[in-house]
This record gives sequence, structure tokens and C-alpha cells, in this order.
Amino acid sequence: MADTHSPAQRYLSTRGGSYGLSFEDVVLKGLATDGGLFIPESIPYLPSDWFTAWSKLTFQQLAYEILSLYISPAEIPPADLRNLVERSYSTFRHPEVTPTVPLSKHQSPSEPQKYLLELFHGPTFAFKDVALQFVGNLFEYFLQRKNEGKAGAERHHLTVVGATSGDTGSAAIYGLRGKKDVSVFILHPHKRVSAIQEAQMTTVLDRNVHNVAVEGTFDDCQDTVKSLFSDPEFNKLHNLGAVNSINWARILAQITYYFYSYFSLARKLNLTSPDPSVLVPIYVVPTGNFGDILAGYYAKRMGLPIRSLWIATNANDILYRFFDSGVYEKQTTAAANIKDGVKADASGVKETLSPAMDILVSSNFERLLWYLALEAESDGTPAGAGDTVAKWMSEFKSTGRLAPQAPVREAFRKTFSSRRVGDDEILATIKSTYEKYDYILDPHTAVGVSVMNAIIPPKEEVAGGEVWITLSTAHPAKFSGAVDLALEGVNGYSFEEKVRPREFVGLEERERRCRVVGVVDAEVVKGVIEEELRGERE
Ligand SMILES: *Cc1c(COP(=O)(O)O)cnc(C)c1O
Repeated sequence: MADTHSPAQRYLSTRGGSYGLSFEDVVLKGLATDGGLFIPESIPYLPSDWFTAWSKLTFQQLAYEILSLYISPAEIPPADLRNLVERSYSTFRHPEVTPTVPLSKHQSPSEPQKYLLELFHGPTFAFKDVALQFVGNLFEYFLQRKNEGKAGAERHHLTVVGATSGDTGSAAIYGLRGKKDVSVFILHPHKRVSAIQEAQMTTVLDRNVHNVAVEGTFDDCQDTVKSLFSDPEFNKLHNLGAVNSINWARILAQITYYFYSYFSLARKLNLTSPDPSVLVPIYVVPTGNFGDILAGYYAKRMGLPIRSLWIATNANDILYRFFDSGVYEKQTTAAANIKDGVKADASGVKETLSPAMDILVSSNFERLLWYLALEAESDGTPAGAGDTVAKWMSEFKSTGRLAPQAPVREAFRKTFSSRRVGDDEILATIKSTYEKYDYILDPHTAVGVSVMNAIIPPKEEVAGGEVWITLSTAHPAKFSGAVDLALEGVNGYSFEEKVRPREFVGLEERERRCRVVGVVDAEVVKGVIEEELRGERE
């Protein structure tokens, strides 16, 4: 097959402030100095023989091929990249890593086929593992290289700091546990994450893992982390690193499963070429920060035949409203409360049954805005797109509102559609899916399946080749509260028998390590971090 390696893939900032960066730079930095996000200078197009060359590859082999298009071999030699990929996915419980399963055990023949792309077979039972297992190994790889032949204080040490409402923290901890030259500090709101999420995080006893429970809200944790990053002295002293979903490596790692699910179905259909009249998926993605679905956008731009991408939101619906009205706008608490009776917190975020999607703005949306600007509201050059995005983001920062010209909305709607789903629909979807298909959804996946059910036409109206695939972002056992609420008393339902994986049995009784910080105060947290780092070295 053709050599798929990009000779020199370079990266730029969405706000135009930097160009020509290496993959290593953008992974270790996370955010650009102009406040923008990193994107590749060009989206690689698939090699001409991609279908025949890739259709029978394992998940790991496919991941290697896709990553190779974005990472220069001069930066990570092919043998090293293969090894990184192998190790990252050896921790998954399913041989296919991300299997695509039909939802159809008891499906009526008059219904079109529905699929779930199960992304929760990693160590923490949520889709973030797919990216963070890889990112943890990448950090370690880059640090090892920097530290070759160095000893003691000479060694480059990375201190990863993050805030979590549950899922990101545990996936980051499992991605970084035991890694050399990296320490990880995860702040969570004390007693405000689910019992199983708290247990997942705090029972990891590796010396480089530090849980900090803050007496406050998730926003307090996030604000504390932000003030650590904006303290140049502390940052320089401890070399802070970020693992939140704005890190480019996370988006990149997620592209693989769109291709893998496509090939899974192509093999079932004995397809020998990428014929969209026989197979053209429509992906439905439960969306919060727009990271998961953005990976689908890259897959489509690379040339994977995808008909469309559906943004499934919960009551925190900024993306749905942009789709609907063309205006990207933060909702104030007052407006949020009047609108649908779901209580919003002081920042305007509504608490729903799908907490990993409870966001006010979607941080990765800026990356898509750059492509929309390039296509529809600039002079069509990267510099022009960067200027437009910088202008948009500063407008958004000062007014909380962004209203691009109509062509931008049209460009968006060519690929994306959106629906929003309330808590009542989440519960009803978990129940009906269990009753109809004997399959138990987590509340985030239920947002997606609810959208899939609403948009799927009757079988006779399905255009040739169309199939619907909802991304299943978490195992239901992580969100037992919502699942119990939906299924309590329904025929044969029992959490212990039907949902709980054996890995969770006894987890809550295991030994834990966590520092509780009684005040919301960045200085206090800095002190805790320094004390823990000293302890780690002893
Ligand atoms: C993080 C998360 C999401 C949202 O993904 P984004 O990439 O932020 O859009 C959805 N479901 C679950 C279970 C998650 O943990």
C-alpha cells in the first residue's frame, strides 16, 4: 500500500497566533498561548487504497494507520508509535476494543437497523479511556525522551492538574497511574461525584496519583485549576500539564473508532469498495464539550463516507440552539430557569441525569468554528480564518453571544444536525430500550438513542445504504442512580444481576487515598500540591 506517513504534519492555533508547531509541542502544551486550540495545518486525505488496505485491520492496526497521517515519523518513529498504540489498547476488556453492536435482538423486521458503538470497554468504563490511555503513554514517551541520560533534579517532570465532575478525572488517573516523571492531581467536588466515580478515583494508590476533594462545586474546582495555570511562577516551577478535552491528542485518538465501526459493518455486508449506496452511516453522538463528535468530523473530512453527524444534547443545549437559530449564545441562569423549569446553578449550567454533558459552552467547538470560518466567513486562507475566529471568540467573551453570517450556519448544517433531550426522555428511553431490546443504556447514551429513535424513518423510506449508529459513551453501572430510577420495578430488572460488572464488586470498600481541602482557595491547593510532590520524591 501507499506510504501513509505524513512527511511533516505541523500544527497551528485556531486564533492565528502560532504556526508550524510539532505534534509534541501541541500535546504537551494543550492550549495555545493566544488562547486558541491547536489543529493540524491540513487535514490529511485518505490514501487511494484505504478501503482495501484497512478494511480488515484490527482496532490497533487501524489506530496506527490513522495516527500516522497526523504524526510525522521523524517525531515518533513507526515502531515506537505501534508500540504506544498496542500498549494503550491492551488495557481494554473487549477484543475489538470498540465493538459495534446491533440493538436488534428483539427488533421487528419493519424497523431499520439501529447500532450502538460501544466505547466503554476501557479501564474506567467510559469513552474517555480511548483517548486518555493513549495520552498517558504519549506523555511518558515524550518525557522519557527528554530525560534520556539525565538524573535527579535534571529530569523534566510534568505535573498534570485537572478538575473533574467524575468521568474525566478517573480516565485521566487510569491513563497516568504509575507513569514515570509524571504526577497527576485531580480536584473533584467533595461528595458531589457519584459513589462509584469517587471510589474509582480514590482507590488508585500509585504514588504519582493525588486526589484532592474540594469542599465546593465543580466550578470551584475548575476555577482553582485555572488560577494555578495562570500563575506563571507556579506553572514554571512545576511544569503544569493539562489533560482536558481541548488536548489535540484526545481528539486524534477518537478518530479511529469512526473508521473501525464503518469497517465492522462493511465486513458484515461483504463490501469490497466504499459504496455509499450500500453503506453510509449516520452517527448520533451524545455531546458535551464537542470532542467526541469533532473526531467524527475529522473522519468525514478525511474521506470516510459519513452521511451526517447528529449532536445529541441534554438540557444544556447551546449547540442545539446554534443549529436551530444560528446564534451561539451562553444562556443566563434566569433565561435557563424560565425556559424549561430545570434548575440551573449560578453559572447557568443545568444539573441533569447525564452529568458528563452538563456544560455551559462546548470548548472544542472553537475548532469547528475555524473550519466554518475558512469555508464561509473569511478570505479562505488559514490566516483569514484565524483572524475571524480570534474576533468571534473575543466577541463571545465580552457578550456571551456569537452570531455569524448565514453562510456559516449553512456550512454547519451541511454536516451537522441536532436535537435536545430532557431528563424525562432519558428515563423513558432507558426503560423502552430495556423492554424492547433487553439492553440497558447509561443516561448519556440514552440521550443519543432518544435522538436516534426520533430521527429514524420507517424502513421503506430509508435511503439506500443508510444506517444509524449511536455512540455509547459509558457503561450503565457508572450511573446507577439514573438507571435505577428508570428501571426500578420493571420486569426482571436488578442492578446487581443485570448491570454491575465484576470489576465494581467490592470497589467501594477498598483502601482509598484522598486529601480533603475544606476551603476553596488556590493558595491552599498549591500548598497541598507541593507537599504531595515532596512526599512522592521521598
Ligand atoms: C465526556 C462525556 C460525554 C461528552 O463528550 P464530549 O467529547 O465532551 O462531547 C458524553 N458521555 C459521557 C459518558 C462522557 O463521559
